[in-house]
Amino acid sequence: MSEAISPSAAAEERWDVIVIGAGPAGYAAAIRAAQLGMRVACIDKSVDAQGKPTLGGTCLNWGCIPSKTLLDASHKFVEASTGFQAFGIEASDVSINVAKMMAQKDAVVAKLTNGVASLFSGNGVAWLPGHGRLHGHCAVEYTPAAGDVAMLAAEHVILAAGSAPIEIDPAPLNGDTIVDSQGALEFDATPQRLGVIGAGVIGLELGSVWARLGAETIVLEALDEFLPIADQRIARDALRALRGQGLDIRLGARVIGAAAAQDTVTVTYQDKDGEHELEFDKLIVAVGRRPYTEGLLAPDSGVNLDERGFLYVNDLCATDAPRVFAIGDVVRGPMLAHKGAEEGVMVAERIAGHKPLVNYDCVPNVIYTHPEIAWVGRTEQSLKADGDTYRTGTFPFAANGRALASNDGAGLVKIVADAETDRVLGVHVFGPQASELIAQAVIAMEFDASAEDLALTMFAHPTLSEAMHEAALGVSGRALHMVNRRRA
Ligand code: FAD
Ligand code: AMP
Repeated sequence: MSEAISPSAAAEERWDVIVIGAGPAGYAAAIRAAQLGMRVACIDKSVDAQGKPTLGGTCLNWGCIPSKTLLDASHKFVEASTGFQAFGIEASDVSINVAKMMAQKDAVVAKLTNGVASLFSGNGVAWLPGHGRLHGHCAVEYTPAAGDVAMLAAEHVILAAGSAPIEIDPAPLNGDTIVDSQGALEFDATPQRLGVIGAGVIGLELGSVWARLGAETIVLEALDEFLPIADQRIARDALRALRGQGLDIRLGARVIGAAAAQDTVTVTYQDKDGEHELEFDKLIVAVGRRPYTEGLLAPDSGVNLDERGFLYVNDLCATDAPRVFAIGDVVRGPMLAHKGAEEGVMVAERIAGHKPLVNYDCVPNVIYTHPEIAWVGRTEQSLKADGDTYRTGTFPFAANGRALASNDGAGLVKIVADAETDRVLGVHVFGPQASELIAQAVIAMEFDASAEDLALTMFAHPTLSEAMHEAALGVSGRALHMVNRRRA
């Protein structure tokens, strides 16, 4: 089946599956369903900066991929500016060409979004650019970018409409000086003074990018606690490290107003000492994301929303409407690309009669600061709050040969294991390549490993992974490269 299909031709088909939304959740579902022999169409309304339809949703176009490209670019810039010196590499007059950095980011995005288009055509998924709206009995109203509206019929529908940035009244976006995460990925120069509202994952990542490139960056966070969802020790160490890099993170600072002038924004925030004003050249509003359901459901769709505006689904991503599923950011659970993609695969396989499940206890979380922060499973504080008994093992990268060899010895690995069974309940990493290291913890937990299982495993030397091994040994007080207070 060709990827270009007219609305009228689409209306003549009886589709096995229509997916609405081609982000990582929707495109994974569409590809997997097609692999399983189903006739699949995927409707998506996203267009790129040139107005051309694009696949990949937020993740590929305005999220994970462009942000990681800029994080890598800005990290290389810091390395070249100051990091190389420790190795005797003299680099003078290091400068950043923001336009070239952005062009590189755009090239990466184009490569990956075109890659999804190739996967669609290679797997026989029909790509229908435009808007989709669900009616009753799996009927989908398709409004193409150009051309007539068509009513499509399907056996099953998968809703994967994703999420959108939350906007707040005190700081209305103007697309120039006050922007959301998408705008912050498109600055044409490094702002001299940058404000960020929200010290969540997105605020920290985007704040890091521009702070590394030289912006005086102030992050205003309403909560008194930094990263409450992460391990408390790691959150504390990360806060210190990020502040050390020049990110001025102010906790307990609630933004209550932002007034844009010609080229500046005056922000008012409140903390325990009263009201304060700050002036910025750019302000990024990064206060979270909300499920995106605008125009998605006709009144007769049969799909319900939950009390927070997410599409209501059960553990298997089934909505209240027969044969209609919903996946990704538009449903409960962490707003992460890999979580949505796994839900997409599960739903496609369930439609085909298989019985897979998504293990929501094993969703890895990553914050791509430097050092990176990554974790999976339970935190010590949540176990404590539940009255569960556990043991921990920690190991610092400062005692890891490979980390020191690359002059990257900040951070630690922490493993939390059940006190009785020794089963690994959570793994928390703050350090170099934490995003990669966490995968070994996810695999271990998927296989119900004990800390002893990890301790008995041989790790290559010298590697960062040895810190994971040592932390596992540490659960029973027998880390080798550390003086153990608790001997076993
Ligand atoms: P989306 O990717 O939002 O895709 C939904 C698609 O559906 C969109 O293209 C939308 O236009 C389309 N759509 C919606 N309604 C309709 C309709 N009615 N008709 C037709 N089309 C419709 N996650 C990670 O896991 N790792 C990261 O490093 C990471 N970094 C991020 C950085 C930033 C700056 C941002 C903003 C997000 C980041 N995320 C990251 C989150 C990640 O992007 C989302 O979790 C992921 O994109 C969700 O996938 P999805 O398929 O559910 O929705
Ligand atoms: P996340 O949902 O992880 O992206 O984080 C968003 C962060 O923004 C949360 O930690 C919120 O506490 C914070 N936040 C929301 N509104 C405001 C505000 N008006 N001022 C400062 N921080 C805010």
